[in-house]
Amino acid sequence: MEDCIFCKIVKKEIPADIVYEDDLIIAFEDINPQAKVHTLIIPKEHIPNNLYLEGRHKTLIGHLILKANEIAKMKNIAQTGFRLIVNNGKDAGQEVFHIHWHLLGGEPLGRLVCK
Ligand code: AMP
Ligand code: ZN
Repeated sequence: MEDCIFCKIVKKEIPADIVYEDDLIIAFEDINPQAKVHTLIIPKEHIPNNLYLEGRHKTLIGHLILKANEIAKMKNIAQTGFRLIVNNGKDAGQEVFHIHWHLLGGEPLGRLVCK
């Protein structure tokens, strides 16, 4: 997707603090962190949000969720606890329409909502 900022990160056209990358996904630090640990995990494929997921994405999303555990361990928040959030659409405050999981932790988080 030409105008998608996260596709540009995937293509290394704009810089990001990348913490993990493989053939299917990439994880990088959120530019405006809402917690001590705030990492974004995204599929390399441009998928606008949860509504656009299809059956063929099952393996990709399973892979991403399992890797989120590894990234949480890498960030030392696996034991203390963390939150994985996907914002979908206007009321959820989605700003970037390339699906992404917010990995938040490193301190006590508020209940239910994170920002
Ligand atoms: P959302 O509101 O769920 O769409 O979240 C978008 C997130 O992307 C926000 O937390 C932003 O701070 C973050 N963000 C936007 N641009 C960048 C960027 N270039 N690098 C890292 N994070 C970004
Ligand atoms: Zn994209």
